Amino acid sequence: MKKRILITGGAGFLGSHLCDRLLEQGHEVIVADNLFTGRKSNIAHHLGNPNFEFIRHDVTDPIRLEVDQIYNLACPASPPHYQYNAIKTIKTSVMGAINVLGLAKRTKARVFQASTSEIYGDPEVHPQPESYWGNVNTIGVRSCYDEGKRVAETLFFDYHRQNGVDIRVVRIFNTYGPRMLPNDGRVVSNFIVQALRGEDITIYGDGKQTRSFCYVDDLIAGFMKLMETDNFTGPVNIGNPGEFTMLELAEQVLKKVGSKSKLVFRALPSDDPKQRKPDITLAKTRLGWEPKVPLSDGLDKTIAYFAKLLDCPYPQS
Ligand code: NAD
Ligand code: UDP
Repeated sequence: MKKRILITGGAGFLGSHLCDRLLEQGHEVIVADNLFTGRKSNIAHHLGNPNFEFIRHDVTDPIRLEVDQIYNLACPASPPHYQYNAIKTIKTSVMGAINVLGLAKRTKARVFQASTSEIYGDPEVHPQPESYWGNVNTIGVRSCYDEGKRVAETLFFDYHRQNGVDIRVVRIFNTYGPRMLPNDGRVVSNFIVQALRGEDITIYGDGKQTRSFCYVDDLIAGFMKLMETDNFTGPVNIGNPGEFTMLELAEQVLKKVGSKSKLVFRALPSDDPKQRKPDITLAKTRLGWEPKVPLSDGLDKTIAYFAKLLDCPYPQS
């Protein structure tokens, strides 16, 4: 059945891919975005589609719309962007959650929260299952994001218990793919852009910290499966359990690009988690979801995207 679906943060990296998939399915999509890290170019191909609307809107302000579903993605995701205005970041998570939950309560819309693996902090349990409560600094430079997302989860479950709001909560692990910004600051885009431009590859710390990288198409499929599943609120981890050190990632990128860039070591940012890998047992059993795209294939697609965007030769040797 055709639904009217609001995506906050829909002009961003993940939101714009979600927008594509929902419009393909014949739904009506409203994107509300303040364009802080989002781009009109990410959604420009839908302008003129009668099923698509864009509203320049800040989620810290309430919005009055009639909708059937809400995906709440509004929040800068890369550390340099969310630390640029830390107070605004925590307001976005907390007030944004209150505003979308209020809207969901009034319209009886199902509402989805893009939570994050950051709620596990620097985890002492590995891999991380949803039952793990996390190890998070309340006063560090990452706290505006981590604690904001934790409060948002709390608000979602309180509105669910107290007001019967129909919630879905996903904990997203590091995701990459086309439409990331070249200056995004996250590791996959940084390494690819540096390799393509022949600039030094910046390894923070000793590069032995690990992350698990999910290709965007797999992630969006997981979002939509959760939204279509009844009687399951989450929280559920969605991510790819393949675990790599930053040195391994740099090596793969350099080899694929054929780049002569050198590795340089920079100070490790404070509170940088040492390891991260999702336990996806719950997503497999409750949603029948698991990722399909291995890192190597996802990197090929992402490198091809950046090479075109930046007009760099690829492969270079
Ligand atoms: P992104 O920065 O590309 O997208 C965020 C979008 O939200 C942008 O379009 C931005 O303009 C918009 N936005 C920011 N503040 C806003 C505000 N106050 N009002 C309205 N719009 C606002 O990042 P992304 O990677 O697409 O992330 C989307 C969501 O997924 C975020 O909530 C992020 O925390 C979450 N997430 C992403 C990842 C990942 O690896 N990509 C991992 C964990 C969680
Ligand atoms: N990182 C790095 N070089 C960069 C950018 C990031 O070595 O140019 C490291 C960063 O310190 C972290 C990992 O890569 O250990 C992932 O960083 P990202 O910002 O992508 O995501 P997050 O730390 O939020 O998982």
